[in-house]
Amino acid sequence: MFTLEETPSLSSKMRISCDRNKLSNFSQKQVRFYLKYSSFVFRALKKPSFQKFLRWMLKKETIEEQAVRAVHVRVLPLRRGNGKGIAGHCDTARGRIRIYPKTTKFCRTFKQKFGRNTLLDYAVNRARAALIHELLHLKYKGDEKTVRELAKDYFCIFTRKQPAQSAHSLFIYKMIFTVKIGGKKASSSASNKPSAGIKLNETCLRASGIFK
Ligand SMILES: [Zn+2]
Repeated sequence: MFTLEETPSLSSKMRISCDRNKLSNFSQKQVRFYLKYSSFVFRALKKPSFQKFLRWMLKKETIEEQAVRAVHVRVLPLRRGNGKGIAGHCDTARGRIRIYPKTTKFCRTFKQKFGRNTLLDYAVNRARAALIHELLHLKYKGDEKTVRELAKDYFCIFTRKQPAQSAHSLFIYKMIFTVKIGGKKASSSASNKPSAGIKLNETCLRASGIFK
């Protein structure tokens, strides 16, 4: 008797990973924060409801699950040359996806302005949006426009299916995809004044293109 070989699930390819050489650039407090952040996001991305949605999306887009070799939830954030944070990155040749956190500084300002629960919601949904976006890159490669449009649609589909769907989810959705709240990005001179406003759509999911 033989058994059919099962394709490893997307969930089983997910890892939390950290660039140990970079740890010394951060304080112990920051490292503790990023460890908590990554494990929180990791657990949220592995939730059956989201994994089920991703399987459905991959099937709909005819992206083979084998095309995804690994999904790394990175502990430490990554910034581009212009200082903006990166939400995710996809190495389409290797099928390797990375999801990055927001910085401690951003999270602190955000929390002061909107509260802890909204921050947690934002962090999780930003990671979900980033993973959806990067998975789509496996098919659409460098076609950033298509990836962005589809990612928005898929994220919306997932959010609508959630039982707790509310005005609050819409608020989070807007933060991730479109709306600038408070106008200017917090600069170092404004960092002590959370009311100075933070630019919330700086997740820049587009950033995955810069490594190619
Ligand atoms: Zn992209």
